[in-house]
Amino acid sequence: MIFHVLTIFPEFFRGPFEHGVVARALKSGLVEIRIHNLRDWTHDFHRTVDDRPFGGGAGMVLKPEPLFDAVESILPARDPARHRVVLLSAQGRLFAQPDARRLAGYEEVLLICGRYEGVDERVSQHLADEELSIGNYVLSGGELAAAVVVDAAARLVPGVLGNEESPEMESFSSPEGAGLPLGILDCPHYTRPAEFRGWRVPDVLLGGNHAEIRKWRYQAALDKTRRMRPDLLDAVPSSASASAPGGSPAECDNIEKRSEE
Ligand code: SAH
Repeated sequence: MIFHVLTIFPEFFRGPFEHGVVARALKSGLVEIRIHNLRDWTHDFHRTVDDRPFGGGAGMVLKPEPLFDAVESILPARDPARHRVVLLSAQGRLFAQPDARRLAGYEEVLLICGRYEGVDERVSQHLADEELSIGNYVLSGGELAAAVVVDAAARLVPGVLGNEESPEMESFSSPEGAGLPLGILDCPHYTRPAEFRGWRVPDVLLGGNHAEIRKWRYQAALDKTRRMRPDLLDAVPSSASASAPGGSPAECDNIEKRSEE
């Protein structure tokens, strides 16, 4: 799968993809990341990519022409089934794990990084297939956001993660959370030493009873989700007959039942 990143700061991406799972995916050839300099699609001496906003106000806006030219030359035969153009924007829909999974299914994903006050709105309206935000805050540019999206999607490209690193068991994907739009969080993890500064690892993890360990992990994942992200448990689709799981064991059973379905 190919990720294209369109940016005015190509050097920004020297570091983020050179480590761990993503670096391995690149080396194996399962994933390719191509960084494109937006200024390569300008035609004036100063390689201008921005201009003042109509209506006045502070800051500059990325012009539409270089962005349209760039996208049309990077993906000359755009096919909606195989290609996806994403504009990173604070005004976009919130990016979440299902989006990472969905984007990992395309052959080529092109990410447009905004800068300054943002991007001419016609890019969102007529060039990008979707507009995504990585959170409710304003970044100074779309580059960090693009790196987040590439990282989250690249690790889900089939073959990138080994079996032990299976994405089935992690936050927002856990089968324990089946029936919930985003699943539940991963369970807490511990490693050696079994006792550190007087804090002991739960005994059940030190024994070899795998059925007990599974049970403990499920309960711990549920407890942690309830504590850290109760919104995930509240987000039961309206079609689900079960009530949202809350604090009681009976309600916890609902998750268990849904995950068995
Ligand atoms: N004036 C805009 C912010 C522009 S920030 C506003 O108030 O909404 C400049 C660029 O940073 C944006 O064009 C976008 O590409 C990127 N950016 C900023 N915040 C982002 C976020 N939360 N998610 C994704 N991209 C973001």
